[in-house]
Amino acid sequence: MLRSALLAAARSTSTRRLVETTPLTTPVVGRFVAGNSLAEAVQATRQIVDSGRVVTLDHLGEDTLDAAQAAATVDAYLRLLTRLEEAGLTAGAEVSVKLSAVGRALPRDGERIALDGARRICEKAAAVGTTVTLDMEDHTTTDATLSILRDLRADFPWVGAVLQAYLFRTEQDCRDLSGPGSRVRLCKGAYREPASVAHQGRQEVDRAYVRCLRVLMEGDGYPMVASHDPRLIGIARHLAERAGRAPGDHEFQMLYGVRPEEQRRLAAEGETVRVYVPYGDEWYGYFMRRLAERPANLTFFLRSLVSR
Ligand code: FAD
Repeated sequence: MLRSALLAAARSTSTRRLVETTPLTTPVVGRFVAGNSLAEAVQATRQIVDSGRVVTLDHLGEDTLDAAQAAATVDAYLRLLTRLEEAGLTAGAEVSVKLSAVGRALPRDGERIALDGARRICEKAAAVGTTVTLDMEDHTTTDATLSILRDLRADFPWVGAVLQAYLFRTEQDCRDLSGPGSRVRLCKGAYREPASVAHQGRQEVDRAYVRCLRVLMEGDGYPMVASHDPRLIGIARHLAERAGRAPGDHEFQMLYGVRPEEQRRLAAEGETVRVYVPYGDEWYGYFMRRLAERPANLTFFLRSLVSR
């Protein structure tokens, strides 16, 4: 119930106005978001890379209906990639892109605009020697995202995609994307989805996650296990070993601010661990999804508001 309410609030403009008046310095927001500025994002990246983990950076933003805003987001990614190269960080840092931030939801030609924007980001990533992963949004956008992925992969075969285990369709999508060179980030899924398209119970989602993991680990691609769930991480390591995979031909991914000790522990054991680092002003939707994942976060957040 609470999860649904928070996910509904993630898309409500009035709640957004209310929550956004909270400065980013509020400890709970700052826990999940590396900062407003590019400089802060690069600084966080450097710290993570120095600690033996790698990074994927997300310039926050989503659902834009403004063409100028979509173009500005593409430019922000180009600046980010330039800065990562200047800082000598491209071996340890790639970028994650939400297609709705680069124009997919625009009423006229949205998909073409998003494809063009994502292509420019990929060209720049190729020039500086790193990669791009396309985030996955709600189920109404899955086909469009996978279609843009196919177009991009024709020129940039290393472009990665996210698949969400809670969707009924995902096991088949995993099969389709388990070929050589394919990079798939498997997560549980963070949006409010109807029972007609997605598993609703935790156990069903976890079981689906394991089925999808098995397909990816037994395939020829590069699985990216995006979860903080200790049980699923254990199963992933077991499946990787059973499929004859060694550390380095798959990786574990977690969000900035979530289970950092576990991130360091896995990295110390020789696993590749990538941290998803979001930054920028448009933190509202991202932050609300993090609250929805763990109701205890909401308590901390409300407490921090009261104590201001
Ligand atoms: P859960 O069962 O939710 O959590 C397991 C444990 O992890 C919890 O008990 C808790 O200890 C800890 N934990 C999990 N979440 C939090 C939190 N917010 N705060 C504090 N502790 C927490 N979803 C999408 O729909 N599309 C995407 O493109 C996408 N990209 C992602 C990229 C990465 C790298 C990661 C790690 C996740 C991404 N997600 C995405 C989110 C994902 O779908 C889940 O909502 C999220 O990871 C929580 O699921 P879990 O597997 O960690 O399991």
